[in-house]
Amino acid sequence: MEHHVYEAEHHAFRELCKEFLAREAVPHNDEWEKAGIVDRDVWRKAGAVGLLGMDVDERHGGGGQRDFRFNAVLVEEIVAAGASGLGFGLHNDVVAPYLTDLTTEDQQNRWLPGFCSGDIVTAIAMSEPAAGSDLAGIRTTAVRDGDSWVLNGQKTFITNGELADLVIVVAKTDPSRGAHGISLFGVERGTPGFSRGRRLEKVGLKANDTAELFFDDCRIPSDHLIGQENQGFYHLMANLPRERLGIAVAAVAAAEHILSVTLDYAKSRAAFGRPIGKFQHNRFLLAELDTEVTIARTFLNACIVEQNAGRLSVTDAAKAKWWTTELQNKVADRCLQLHGGYGFMLEYPVAKAWLNSRVQTIYGGTTEIMKEIIGRSLGL
Ligand SMILES: Cc1cc2nc3c(=O)[nH]c(=O)nc-3n(C[C@H](O)[C@H](O)[C@H](O)COP(=O)(O)OP(=O)(O)OC[C@H]3O[C@@H](n4cnc5c(N)ncnc54)[C@H](O)[C@@H]3O)c2cc1C
Repeated sequence: MEHHVYEAEHHAFRELCKEFLAREAVPHNDEWEKAGIVDRDVWRKAGAVGLLGMDVDERHGGGGQRDFRFNAVLVEEIVAAGASGLGFGLHNDVVAPYLTDLTTEDQQNRWLPGFCSGDIVTAIAMSEPAAGSDLAGIRTTAVRDGDSWVLNGQKTFITNGELADLVIVVAKTDPSRGAHGISLFGVERGTPGFSRGRRLEKVGLKANDTAELFFDDCRIPSDHLIGQENQGFYHLMANLPRERLGIAVAAVAAAEHILSVTLDYAKSRAAFGRPIGKFQHNRFLLAELDTEVTIARTFLNACIVEQNAGRLSVTDAAKAKWWTTELQNKVADRCLQLHGGYGFMLEYPVAKAWLNSRVQTIYGGTTEIMKEIIGRSLGL
């Protein structure tokens, strides 16, 4: 059943991704994890071989393929290579649609070629120290002043925050109107009043930079408004299913990968005169995990097909996000246990998989918020 949504062109793209990651990421991974950030250059190298902006129009330097399967393949291979520092998923899966579908021709000409070449690394800044799940509670403001917008506020937990050359910032433009008074802005590196805080130290995803951002009378040109004024919340709602699908892709890929590593381990590690996988408890456990991962993959593939048809619902994306990420955590945890003491050693892939899995049920909307969305769809 594996990978049955993929066709010949996706298999070819997978080979390209594998080859790129083996050459440009795997040898540097330890060093990036120690640094807490990847080398800026790997973005340009990825852009040069076509791993950035696969669904951006060719006239702007993109791949011209509106097919989320390419995005999925890249994320799967990044997970399999253990190159979790590469924030390409955030760039391609989350940010791209804002820049392709909500922007003016001028904005596209300004930002998309760099987006695809790797000269412009992107981030999206919604969360703040006092508001994550409750997006309508953000405090960052943007006030119109002649030909500019003036931003004030603070963001936190921003993926690619330090490397980013362009950040889509969510701000209140009409604080009296709650969710109806939110807008999106493109803020470029070097804009006076835009600064970054410390590199945040995380439990996992060690090589992926996560930063605090500050806006202090940060003045940007009026034409850096992305989408419609005061419609930001709706623009976010429209794009969050794709973000959540991207996280589910990573979750299923991680679960499949670590399960396969653990199966090998369970066949080769012996105790009491037999491979540990032969004890009925462990055999049943692995059988259960394998079943659940197969179910996850099947539902995920159905969601990818829906996404490509422009039909992925907010509810189905929420189901995919919470269920696959909780499963990923369960798989990582049980697989670590099967490794015994070696599972607690960072040199074993299962240990890193366990650490990296933990955040998946939190960002992109927590499990609890996903269940709120699904509950509402049930009329509750
Ligand atoms: C590594 C990492 C990368 C991230 N990257 C980004 C990024 O690039 N851009 C960005 O904008 N944000 C990013 N985030 C932020 C992330 O999206 C938020 O942390 C997340 O949405 C949760 O918000 P919070 O941390 O404020 O928790 P809170 O909203 O304070 O939630 C705390 C707890 O309360 C629960 N809770 C809240 N509301 C309800 C409710 N109604 N019912 C039941 N339970 C509820 C939550 O589920 C959670 O368990 C990132 C976070 C991390 C850790």
